[in-house]
Amino acid sequence: METKKERLVLRRPIGKHEERSYLEVAFAVEGPVERIDIAYRYERGGASGPVVDIGLRSPERIVGWSGGAREAFFVGTEKATPGYLAGPIAEGEWAVLLGAYKIPEGGAEVIVEVEFARPHGRWMKGDLHMHSVHSDGSYTMEQAKDSCKSRGLEFMALTDHNTASQNFAALAPDEQLLLIPGVELTSYFGHANVLGVPDALRDFRVTTPEQAEEALGEARERGGFVSLNHPFCPSCPWELGFDVPFDAIEVWNGPWRTLNERALAWWQEQLAQGRRIIALGGSDAHREDRFVKHGRPTASVWTEADTVQGVLAGIRQGRVVLQFDPDETCMALASGKYGIGDTIPRHAVEEQGGVPLTIDICSAKGDRVALWSDRGIEAVWDIVVPADNSDAGGWEAEAAEAGWTVQREIAAILAFDAQEDKGCVPAIPAGASAESGVAPQRIEAENAHVRLRFQGSADRLFYRLEARRDVEGLKRSVMTCMTNPVYVEQA
Ligand SMILES: [Zn+2]
Repeated sequence: METKKERLVLRRPIGKHEERSYLEVAFAVEGPVERIDIAYRYERGGASGPVVDIGLRSPERIVGWSGGAREAFFVGTEKATPGYLAGPIAEGEWAVLLGAYKIPEGGAEVIVEVEFARPHGRWMKGDLHMHSVHSDGSYTMEQAKDSCKSRGLEFMALTDHNTASQNFAALAPDEQLLLIPGVELTSYFGHANVLGVPDALRDFRVTTPEQAEEALGEARERGGFVSLNHPFCPSCPWELGFDVPFDAIEVWNGPWRTLNERALAWWQEQLAQGRRIIALGGSDAHREDRFVKHGRPTASVWTEADTVQGVLAGIRQGRVVLQFDPDETCMALASGKYGIGDTIPRHAVEEQGGVPLTIDICSAKGDRVALWSDRGIEAVWDIVVPADNSDAGGWEAEAAEAGWTVQREIAAILAFDAQEDKGCVPAIPAGASAESGVAPQRIEAENAHVRLRFQGSADRLFYRLEARRDVEGLKRSVMTCMTNPVYVEQA
């Protein structure tokens, strides 16, 4: 796919005789385009200077008009500046509309810049689980959107309990955020998110595994993607069995806690048995809170298009990495052209003589990274950052300091968790611990990015990554990032 942006600069001199008329500056759209950015400028020249308004038309219609209110705007497939209509960008002749409201005797010259963005693959960050005033949350839809934007997120899923009104309230596209319609089926026997359709549930009143099977099966038939949420939560576990139709499991709900360790261990067991289940995470944020925040965790999804369906397609393919925070440790895992969520075909395994893996780690701050397969932990790396290095530049010193801030916060979260789980502390299965018989290799991270290589075996079912950080003063480590697997096709 073409990833480069293309830019045109167009000039339109306007004569006095054209005052109070509408002019067009035409340009052609050829091939797939997902966003057009437009900016314009001219010599203003004070009270007696020119006044030129702006708008846009597509091959079919007027797309928007901002008069003299904006110097720049954009239209995209599902996002647009207020005043403009988002929609598929048709090929053909488009035109920037200029309104020559006031033109002085000497005329004016308007410079119009048009930039096209072609559809291209990228990681997009978002939150897949949250609540608003449409159920038991305190956030209005606008507050939830603002909170997600302030955290640097690009999509949010609307997963209020047992209702669809949030999806109808959010029908208008947002300028920055993709709004993924959803609902959290919330029963007395467990919770499940259905993502991707605005009206997924005919009836949420599920009390038996048979009813869960029917409701979730129907939600899937309507196009919904089903994730079983916080399945080992002490207060609201999933008690309807794992034979119901589902696509994913929420292994990471809110701050990293024991219930997440248990979900992770269960997921690893399933993967080791050859099942393919996508691991998701979401904040489950309901209101302003010190520990529960939008984007904690963040789901990073590989998307081929800046659309809701683009994000959902990435999720369906398992192209998902979960991060403690939007700007926390991030990781990628690939073998040649095959990445997270992909299956490396047998012919590629044979041609390469195994599974050579490339591991990219960004923003790690003293994390321990473990490579997992169906056999358990295969390799461990300690990513060492120069903590108090007097030779370090200002940028590195700042990064090291930020690391400690995060660690203090994590300690507070764990203390909070210990209170919450009082009287109901499930044992953490041994498999969930990052401790293993594999000796860690020490990797000095000179800058924010570390690349590691590992020669994987053809007989492993999958490989996946976990990054954890020890919390000062506590005998526990916290997940900072985890990937979904790269699968290996077996002979
Ligand atoms: Zn829930």
